[in-house]
Amino acid sequence: MPAQASPLIAPYGGHLVDLMVPAAAHAEVKAYASQLSSLQLSERSVCDLELLATGAFSPLDRFMGQVDYQRVLDEMRCSTGQLFPIPITLPVEDDPALRLDQDIALRDAKNDLLAVLTIEEIYAWEPAEAAHKVFGTLDVRHPLVAEMHRWGKWHLSGRLQVLQLPKHYDFQELRLTPAQTRARLEEFGYPHVIAFQTRNPLHRVHEELTKRAVQERDGVLLLHPVVGMTKPGDVDHYTRVRAYKALAAGYYDPRRILLALLPLAMRMAGPREALWHALIRRNHGANHFIVGRDHAGPGNDSTGTPFYGPYDAQELLHRYSAELGVHVVPFHELLYLPDEERYEEVSQIPPGTRTASISGTQVREQYLNQGRTLPDWFTRPEVAEILAETYPPRHRQGVCIWFTGLSGAGKSTTAEVLTVLLLEHGRQVTLLDGDVVRTNLSHGLGFSKEDRDTNIRRIGFVAAEIVRHGGVAICAAVSPYRTTRNDVRALVGAEHFVEVFVDTPLEVCEARDTKGMYAKARRGDIKGFTGIDDPYEPPESPELRLETVTLTPEDNAHRILQYLLQRGFVRPPTTVRNNGIPVAPAVSPRVLE
Ligand code: ADP
Ligand code: ADP
Repeated sequence: MPAQASPLIAPYGGHLVDLMVPAAAHAEVKAYASQLSSLQLSERSVCDLELLATGAFSPLDRFMGQVDYQRVLDEMRCSTGQLFPIPITLPVEDDPALRLDQDIALRDAKNDLLAVLTIEEIYAWEPAEAAHKVFGTLDVRHPLVAEMHRWGKWHLSGRLQVLQLPKHYDFQELRLTPAQTRARLEEFGYPHVIAFQTRNPLHRVHEELTKRAVQERDGVLLLHPVVGMTKPGDVDHYTRVRAYKALAAGYYDPRRILLALLPLAMRMAGPREALWHALIRRNHGANHFIVGRDHAGPGNDSTGTPFYGPYDAQELLHRYSAELGVHVVPFHELLYLPDEERYEEVSQIPPGTRTASISGTQVREQYLNQGRTLPDWFTRPEVAEILAETYPPRHRQGVCIWFTGLSGAGKSTTAEVLTVLLLEHGRQVTLLDGDVVRTNLSHGLGFSKEDRDTNIRRIGFVAAEIVRHGGVAICAAVSPYRTTRNDVRALVGAEHFVEVFVDTPLEVCEARDTKGMYAKARRGDIKGFTGIDDPYEPPESPELRLETVTLTPEDNAHRILQYLLQRGFVRPPTTVRNNGIPVAPAVSPRVLE
């Protein structure tokens, strides 16, 4: 029986590019590759290679050569005249091992062998030109414009023989190549496939717009979230995919939805990116593509203006839709109408109607950080629960309280009082006291600059792990060097780092001399003592500065506690009951001050 022609739209260019080395030649090419010099690829290039290899970028079959690259910048077309809106290139630094007509092995970050590249072209490129032509801006607030400046100044191009796709151990059942996606879509039996691209958790508004699109076109939904690289700061893909799975399983007609993951490295190029997304989806079998407001937008530039207009992406896609063979399914903003309990397009809402919406920032700050449940009209309860697990309320997030100051300033004493107060308020605390740490974690380290830095970095490493797992790390070490303290701040994450400067004058510390160290240092019995013959660099802008001459350790520990209450890291002790569920009263700085 002759094979039935697929009801799906053909890939762009007629067939799916396949760069995988055939099984019969695999062993030979692999053995050959092991003798070649290697090039380690960036995370972005690994993503690009995977999509080139599987034909997601068809008709492209390699990182772009100079002629293709230039025409893509200028006209969004390859040298063949076919559309391709985003340059896919392999940027490299100067390297004598990279020579024309040579083969090199391409490897990932763990040095796993991925492919053999025959270097047919090496050419220079200009980040400013690419930024201007592709992204329409030179503003480094654009995440890709900023990133491009760190890429190598040469591009490599040539034949690719791919031995292995990058390994993914997560959600393997959802990771489908274009060919696998097509095979699955064919089983649904609809000629129309409506693709939906996303890099965010899906809320009711997205559910509504995808369902409307599928109903209107009488087809199947390809829910196709990006799990490669998205915009820095986005919700991690593990959390998102758990939520997509819950939604697909519980709220869509299973005969009308295919959930598959796309290992794409996004560029946040707005309109050009939308066209690229549509092309990639065509290769996966979709002939419709949903584009809403500000598709793949990178936010605002340094003057506070959005990089792209809200409907620029829809317009560009409309212009090329017929040529690309993918219909645009345009969506204008939807808002919730609480009185009618339904969503509606803004243009259809009569003036004066009550509407509701919650922005992404509000989701984090007014709901998740405060432990408030997202309302049903906004998000399905399963999704709300998954988000709440990833983003616990502030009072269950980790925090590091870093005391710094001269020996005898009062760090340990204040830290001990604070530890008890935090335990009393229901937090789990680990106290990393410099003197104690030097008997175990940092046993054997001395007081040279190098050893002091090593000690601080070790404490910082442990603190960062504690914070990552939602605990409180209280660290009390002299930590005399500003740069090292700032490194620890970055390691822990500035949002979760509270630097407390115990600002006790040297004379006072020396007069206290609880350990008799200052006397020894003055006599010269010990060398390199901070404040005597070794420097102390006071913090420039600590979160808190403590005064210990007029305030007691208890006073100061309470000040820190108040600060943590205000930041939300500690829950106020009085809870009100609401339907039997204890909830923390809204933390208002006015009440707490
Ligand atoms: P991105 O911001 O990268 O486009 P999102 O996951 O936020 O990704 O959005 C996926 C799609 O849904 C995009 O086409 C976007 O424009 C559209 N979209 C998001 N919110 C709305 C909304 N409230 N109304 C209509 N379309 C929306
Ligand atoms: P560090 O850990 O900074 O080296 P310690 O807490 O070990 O300092 O020692 C500080 C000494 O000063 C303790 O003996 C403590 O009782 C005393 N002290 C006096 N007033 C204060 C104060 N207001 N805050 C902290 N410690 C104080």
